Amino acid sequence: MTDGSENASATGGVAVVIVAAGRGARAGQANGPKQYQTIGGRAVIAHTLEMFLAHPRTGRIVVAIHADDHELFRQAAGSQAERVTAIIGGPTRQESVRLGLLALKDHAPDQVLIHDAVRPFVDAELIDRTIAAIGENEGALPALPVADTLKRESAAGVVAETVSRSGLHAAQTPQGFPYGPILAAHDKAYQLGRLDFTDDAAIAEWAHIPVKLVPGSPDNVKLTWARDIAMAHQRLSSGRTHFPDIRTGNGYDVHAFEPGDHVTLCGVAIPHEKKLSGHSDADVGLHALTDALLATCGAGDIGTHFPPSDQQWKGAASRIFVEHAAKVVRERGGRIANADITLICEAPRVGPHREAMTAALSQMLGISADRISIKATTNEKLGFVGREEGIAAIATASVVFPGEVPE
Ligand code: MG
Repeated sequence: MTDGSENASATGGVAVVIVAAGRGARAGQANGPKQYQTIGGRAVIAHTLEMFLAHPRTGRIVVAIHADDHELFRQAAGSQAERVTAIIGGPTRQESVRLGLLALKDHAPDQVLIHDAVRPFVDAELIDRTIAAIGENEGALPALPVADTLKRESAAGVVAETVSRSGLHAAQTPQGFPYGPILAAHDKAYQLGRLDFTDDAAIAEWAHIPVKLVPGSPDNVKLTWARDIAMAHQRLSSGRTHFPDIRTGNGYDVHAFEPGDHVTLCGVAIPHEKKLSGHSDADVGLHALTDALLATCGAGDIGTHFPPSDQQWKGAASRIFVEHAAKVVRERGGRIANADITLICEAPRVGPHREAMTAALSQMLGISADRISIKATTNEKLGFVGREEGIAAIATASVVFPGEVPE
């Protein structure tokens, strides 16, 4: 795989050591080491690695992983750019860094950035600032002034003293160094058995390499606790695409005319020289809507719930069917977003009754009138509707269900 980096094979330039061998006991072992936990759909370390791979100034990247994590790293990092090398780290952070620096020897970089895998929110500007501050024999440390008042605890769990925070900074990574001097400092510490340094700036300090402070970033947090992982996930998820579970159902119904004196359409009785024939009140609009609602959650159709063979629905007001369908939808957590009914008939005229129909439907569905549409059209004298043998209705309902459409 090519990665387009001009620095990849050449010597010199800026190399990166990413420390990822920790076991992450503090974040909760149950979910495995925190650098491999998923935030915003990808492993923490994948986010971190991406920031350095995307930076135009970085060349060779060495990742120090734990011997048990080969598969985890492979899965997390995917097919790797050629300039990324995974090595087995040591038992301590300090030793992992030393091994990472040694692995860069053949590439002889001019400068090296040393970064914690569990700081995935490092940004390009911070990397730039750090690189810019590295001198020939001078390191660079991104840090933030300590904002909280500091207390030293006595043995009994009470405050022993307030520590002045004046001049105090919290150290972040990446810490940048000229490659030769920091490798020499690590080697010397290793030879002398000084294995208690918690960061590379401390080793530099010990080896009398000056370290220049550069402004850190408040976003560049170290994911230490289980809660940090959850917050990082939330932060990355807020920008991601959502797939709300919006569903649409349609329904169609026809009823024939027979002798009578009124029709019931969308819950409203309209005087007419015929009536619609049917088991119930034959409200063709409400029947179509019942089917549309049930369709949004795969709950069958009106016949499934109210078999025509069942005598109890004889002459029933069809609002019973609509209200039942709305209840089925609600029981599944659904919220009805809108309902749209088209009545297809030559007569009676629907227009004068539209308002009453809308009010009736608003009640049945428990939604506001602006979410209900009732339209009517003739059939231009064509077909059974055109010959005034019956009325047809088409309905559409949209319902939003909880959660998201699964992948
Ligand atoms: Mg029907």
